Amino acid sequence: MTDSPLFYQAGPALPEVSHAEGVSLWDTQGKEYLDGCSGAISCNLGHGRQDIRDAMLAQLDRVAFTYRTQFENAPALALGHALVGLTDGALDKVFFVSSGSEAVESALKLARQYFVATGAPQRRRFVSLRPSYHGSTLGALGVTGYRPLEAPFTTLTHASLKVPGPDFYRHRDADDDAHVDRVLAETRATIEAAGPESIIAFVLEPIGGASTGGRLLGERYLKGVRALCDEFGCLLILDEVLTGVGRTGTWFAYQHYGVTPDLLVTAKGLGAGYYPVGALLTRRDIVTEVMASGGFQHGHTYAGNPLACATGLAVIEAIRREGLLENVRARGEQLGTGLRALAERHAWVGHVRGLGLLWGVELVADPATREPFPAEQNRFAQITALAREEGLLVYPRRTLDGVAGDHFLVTPPLTITADEVETLLERLSRAMARFDRALADEAAS
Ligand code: PMP
Repeated sequence: MTDSPLFYQAGPALPEVSHAEGVSLWDTQGKEYLDGCSGAISCNLGHGRQDIRDAMLAQLDRVAFTYRTQFENAPALALGHALVGLTDGALDKVFFVSSGSEAVESALKLARQYFVATGAPQRRRFVSLRPSYHGSTLGALGVTGYRPLEAPFTTLTHASLKVPGPDFYRHRDADDDAHVDRVLAETRATIEAAGPESIIAFVLEPIGGASTGGRLLGERYLKGVRALCDEFGCLLILDEVLTGVGRTGTWFAYQHYGVTPDLLVTAKGLGAGYYPVGALLTRRDIVTEVMASGGFQHGHTYAGNPLACATGLAVIEAIRREGLLENVRARGEQLGTGLRALAERHAWVGHVRGLGLLWGVELVADPATREPFPAEQNRFAQITALAREEGLLVYPRRTLDGVAGDHFLVTPPLTITADEVETLLERLSRAMARFDRALADEAAS
């Protein structure tokens, strides 16, 4: 997508995939790659799963597609109930979509309609973080904080108020709590200046994924945001497109923090790469108001079709049956420990952060000042290409708005074994050693 010209300049042509099994993919030349990032943090069960295949084929044999105004369908009802169950009933209404962007759009529109329905039409804008990523469609782009993506479309998007989140790597406050308190105070001031009565919702990822490379926001900050939303009468939308359905060792990342959103969106891992399926979860009282006002003015053709929902259901059942949340916690500890050990050996690794099987590794030009590499050096593409040569796929991101440096995500399938984590770390170690040599060669020339 946006980064692709950089990849083509920075490295050899992409390999052509042949087939995949478990945590590995093979190209047509017979080379094997360990999927260290689950595709786009989406193939959460690994590849070639017979159980998912069987569930999908069984559904295909019955009926692949029905439209929601014509039929109820059992997989949609079952997946809806399953998702509500994953929140312990805290969110008890589900709206299906086919992607993360669609899920975010749906959340933004439902939240706006809620306030129109309840006599507060002056609530017309959102608050979100910079940097952040919430999707490619115009509504989702409006709450996204990433200038290169936003720039061509500013005349078309409804831009949110963008505020900084906490940065536990670069802040210069007395300690982390003081930092969070200052960030929250500044956010409060920004909202007060803009008019709290104009805000529909605060939109954010509980843990940064594709935007900030695994940056944790922490309990103090998330509780502070929840309190601000309550005080100002706006809603809290959590974007769990990437963190949802087990990625961080709980069904949803918010469950680590004791903070419950009013709306939650999830996608990627729900279909686990087998079929596109996403969902918006919210509370019944919100839906009731919108329905009483004439219904939700929104919907997509493929939403909630039987095949999509049968896939999502099979994914959730597999995570339960195989105890994958426990695996994520155990393998996450092992992976985090291993990544930190690698960081000790390479000065250009500025920061390793994450939770469960969502880890980010940030690269810096100068570890003392934490200065990022100059953006034009495309270090994110360089390290990714080296890892690929060593048979490891990682998910790269470049410096964002000068806030975070080049980084890559290590987010293997939730099914990864202890031995496979070791293989991942060995391959990464080799790629990092080659990156060391490339830096040394550049310095010498
Ligand atoms: N929100 C977040 C947090 C994401 O990571 C992504 C995808 N990277 C999206 C939304 C958009 O999802 P999709 O690409 O499925 O539209």
